[in-house]
Amino acid sequence: MRQPLVVGNWKMHGNAGGIRSLMAELIEAEGAFSGAEVGVCPPFVFLPMVTELCADLSIRVGAQNVSQHDNGAFTGEVSAAMLAELGAAYVLVGHSERREFFAESSETVAEKFLAAQAHGLTPVLCLGETLQQRERGETEKTVLAQLDTVLAAAGVEAFANSVLAYEPVWAIGTGKTASPEQAQQVHQILREHIAVKDPAVADALRILYGGSIKATNARALFSQPDIDGGLVGGASLEAGQFAAICASMEN
Ligand code: PEP
Repeated sequence: MRQPLVVGNWKMHGNAGGIRSLMAELIEAEGAFSGAEVGVCPPFVFLPMVTELCADLSIRVGAQNVSQHDNGAFTGEVSAAMLAELGAAYVLVGHSERREFFAESSETVAEKFLAAQAHGLTPVLCLGETLQQRERGETEKTVLAQLDTVLAAAGVEAFANSVLAYEPVWAIGTGKTASPEQAQQVHQILREHIAVKDPAVADALRILYGGSIKATNARALFSQPDIDGGLVGGASLEAGQFAAICASMEN
C-alpha cells in the first residue's frame, strides 16, 4: 500500500510574513489531511523558518533544488548536506522550470538525484513532455528518456527511496490540467517501465501528478490507480486550496 503524498512547490514566491500566515492556516487544517503525507517546498531562505514551524507537525519540508556537488567553489549553490542539516526531507530534482530556464540536462538531474540520496534526502524526480512533444506523439519517449538517464546512473534500487512526479510541461502554471485518463496512462507507463527491472520497487514507488491541480480536479486525478498524490504549484500558495487538495487524497 503506497501512502498518498501531496507536496507544495512554492517556487520563488512569498515573504516571511506571508509564509507565516500560510503556515498558520495550514497548521489549522492539518487534521483534515486524512492520512496523506504532506510536504511543502519553500524557497531556500525560508527553509529554517518553515522547518521550525513544522517541528511538531506531520507536515514535512523539502527544497526546490540542490547542487550536484558536495561542496566547493560553486557560488550561489546549496548542497544536499546543507539541506539535510536544515531538516529537509525531500528535494525536487528535474523540475521543468530548472530544465528549461537553467538548462539542466537529464545527466545533471541524475547527479542531483544521487547527491540528494547520498545525504538522506528523498529526491522527487520530475518528468514531463512539452506540448510540442505531446502533439508529435513523443510523450512516452520523452518521459522514459528522462527516467532512463537517472535509472542508468542510480540503478533501480535507488528508486525505493525516491518519488516520481509526472508533470506535463503544458499543464504547469497554465490552468490546463491533464485529464485523469491522460495522466493515468503516463503514470502506468512509468510504473511498468520500473517494474520490468524490479516489480517490488515499482509497486512501492509513489508517482505524483503535477500540473494545475486545484481543489476542483484533485479528487478525479487522485482516484486513478497509478496516481499516488500531487505536486502542487500555484494552488499550494493558498492554504484553503492546498488543504482541500490534501484532503481529496484518500487512502
Ligand atoms: C509545479 O510547479 O510543479 C506545478 C505543478 O505548478 P502548478 O500547480 O502551478 O501547475
